[in-house]
Amino acid sequence: MAVSVFDLFSVGIGPSSSHTVGPMRAAGMFVDELVGRDMVDHVAEVRVDLFGSLAATGAGHGTIPAILLGLEGYRPETIETDEMEQRLATIRADGKILLAGRTVIALTESDMHLQPGRRLDQHPNAMTLTAFSAHDDVLYRETYFSVGGGFVVTETSPAGNEATARTEGSFRSAAELLALTERDGLSVSQAMMRQECMRRSETEVRERLLHIRDVMIACQDNGMSRDGYLPGNLQVRRRAKDWFVRLDAEDPQRDPAFAEDWVNLVALAVNEENASGGRIVTAPTNGAAGIIPAVLHYALRYTSAGRADPDDTTVRFLLTAGAIGSLYKERASISGAEVGCQGEVGSAASMAAGGLAEILGGTPRQVENAAEIAMEHSLGLTCDPIGGLVQIPCIERNAISAGKAINAARMALRGDGTHRVSLDQVIETMRATGMDMSAKYKETSTGGLAVNVSVNVVEC
Ligand code: SF4
Repeated sequence: MAVSVFDLFSVGIGPSSSHTVGPMRAAGMFVDELVGRDMVDHVAEVRVDLFGSLAATGAGHGTIPAILLGLEGYRPETIETDEMEQRLATIRADGKILLAGRTVIALTESDMHLQPGRRLDQHPNAMTLTAFSAHDDVLYRETYFSVGGGFVVTETSPAGNEATARTEGSFRSAAELLALTERDGLSVSQAMMRQECMRRSETEVRERLLHIRDVMIACQDNGMSRDGYLPGNLQVRRRAKDWFVRLDAEDPQRDPAFAEDWVNLVALAVNEENASGGRIVTAPTNGAAGIIPAVLHYALRYTSAGRADPDDTTVRFLLTAGAIGSLYKERASISGAEVGCQGEVGSAASMAAGGLAEILGGTPRQVENAAEIAMEHSLGLTCDPIGGLVQIPCIERNAISAGKAINAARMALRGDGTHRVSLDQVIETMRATGMDMSAKYKETSTGGLAVNVSVNVVEC
């Protein structure tokens, strides 16, 4: 089947799906291969080469610690953030890691080979891992590409952890999705559920989606309870806790007049957690992880469907958003290093707009219209994070784009679903715009705000 909703929404750690989660998964895949080949005990040295965007912004995005921990066998889905800090402190003190949790080898952050000026043909987020024996023989080498949203592909297995096989009822374009819904009398969420049920039961799909929602809510609650400054030298103060205290006091009855403030707050809280390396749901990436929870919050609190049945609303919202997200993954990219921020924040806004349109009672054509509007007005969005940190412009951009998604859904609901530019056309425009975009604006921190706002960043 096509991309699953659980490929787009997965539990990981901040601050970046492509630069933190993906590299940790890649290092884990490398270790699994060494274990599978019974080589771990023969490894004397591991060389890590990072290319392109991974090398350019890897320091600010936590790439290097993520690789070290991945080589030890940790996984982004399960590692605890406190555990991460403790383990990294030990690695820094000893200058050694435990490969696969058992073989001691000398490797620390300063041993990484960074080549920001070298972009491999397949993808700008590339890394090569090489294991050597004590006699300097190459035991195993693989090049990995972190292609966005935590997805990893390799040179020898280009499909990687992506699932792209075609099955009955699958769709790879908005036109195919609409034709399916009309042929079979389905909503977008029902069409997506039918696809998910090719892999697991409906009960399991629902349980897993509700778990995703619970992790999103835990993340926003964490964000609203922490103050102080975000990691790095930008000196960005966390705002979510202060905003929460004030908003909660101003709005004891959850007055709808405060809806926009709450949406902004949820987006801020999630992205502040992400920026500080906390537990996060990629949606579809970490940098854009605040938009879906913020719009889901709106759907649950400020729509009649959400108030009547929060669980069913959550499931339908995430399935619809997942259906839209799968089209971006299939037909364009969700990687900021490949197509700029339009592929991350733009895709998330489009997914959220589609999800909310269905919850507001929209037809599949209105859902498609909402998703199209949100992306049409995100086209050209560049990725230029200051200091290579997922903080400015990322955090506020999530709040602004959550508002855009809600507006897009409401606009679509005022129409009848007919419109001039199709979602497929806008997805293709996003892809083509991304291909034309200078590398300066694709997660390299060599253009835009990253060079026009001076900061002396000495990253950890
Ligand atoms: S600017 Fe956008 S794409 Fe770039 S790191 Fe920030 S959220 Fe991600």
